[in-house]
Amino acid sequence: MSATPTSPLVDHHCHGLVTTDLDRAGFESLMNESTGPSPLGTTLFDSMLGLAIRRWCAPVLDLEAHAPAEDYLARRRELGAAEVNRRFVVEAGIAVFLVDTGLTPDLLTSPEELASLCGAESREVVRLEAVAADVLADGTPPGEFAERVRERLRTSGAVAAKSIAAYRVGLRLPARAPAADELVAALYDLSPSPAGGFRVAHPVVNGWLAWTAVDLGMPLQLHVGYGDSDVDLAECDPLCLTRFLRATEERGVPVMLLHNYPFHRNAAYLAQVFDHVFVDVGLATHNSGALSVAPLREALELAPFGKFLFSSDAYGLAELYLLGALLFRRGLAEVLSGLLDGGDVTTADVERIARLLGSENARRAYRLEDARGPA
Ligand SMILES: [Zn+2]
Repeated sequence: MSATPTSPLVDHHCHGLVTTDLDRAGFESLMNESTGPSPLGTTLFDSMLGLAIRRWCAPVLDLEAHAPAEDYLARRRELGAAEVNRRFVVEAGIAVFLVDTGLTPDLLTSPEELASLCGAESREVVRLEAVAADVLADGTPPGEFAERVRERLRTSGAVAAKSIAAYRVGLRLPARAPAADELVAALYDLSPSPAGGFRVAHPVVNGWLAWTAVDLGMPLQLHVGYGDSDVDLAECDPLCLTRFLRATEERGVPVMLLHNYPFHRNAAYLAQVFDHVFVDVGLATHNSGALSVAPLREALELAPFGKFLFSSDAYGLAELYLLGALLFRRGLAEVLSGLLDGGDVTTADVERIARLLGSENARRAYRLEDARGPA
């Protein structure tokens, strides 16, 4: 039998699409979170992601698999961004998108626009630091900040909150919610940029935001592991979260560790020992292309099957939705087929595990059937 999970996926962490046509520099700058092509003469097409785009995405644009990068980009421009986006998103086979709307929302499709490309559903994930920055930019006095943020989260309609503490202060989140007076004192340390915006980067404030999401019963997504060059990766090992996780476990609110690479084994351990911890290997899946079965297999060494979720972490390029979904399905099929061949699982187990990872864990953890916002 085929162990390939083909049923529609729930993508529990992704972003929107760009809707403009892209030249080579624009395309490569969106291939991952670095800039490209490099002035030192290298190209991201010479990477596992580049190979995956040429192999799997070229045929979707009516080209031969492995078409050269220049031919690929020319065909992409010929079809136009709208048609390219539609083809890839349809091909990805994703039924529900949980969209992080906190990163450059003006440049990307809204959750509704993204889902409408393929008749899917979408839900919003609200970014805590973006809400805090908006509240501060409104001129909110520090003493009123906490209630304004809570109110914004309560009325957001979002199914989850996302913290980018990893980018701002690292992951050593506090083991208790900061007290009101600590929060107010910390807010006085934040000052606006000359343009008037706030960068929310203070251990007390970022810690308070994460605790507040948990207090409101909102599943908390945390950026973990690698991202762009802003991340101080040594402070983004999920093990840095251990005290926070121990302290929040009794609340029973899901904490979703996103990406995790190259610490996905550490994240899988946390999912095994803490009831409320869930993990994915999104982002690394498309970035490592045909080699992405390795991090998937390593994460599944310890992560309970009810605690692992599919995520594309696609941002900007429609190709990344297709590759995230396709490589997840292929990798999972390879892992499960091996177990089946070895007599370690039954056919019924394979089908059930594929359903859990592909969609059912996300539907349960985010209460997608019955919740449109925090309780
Ligand atoms: Zn992301």
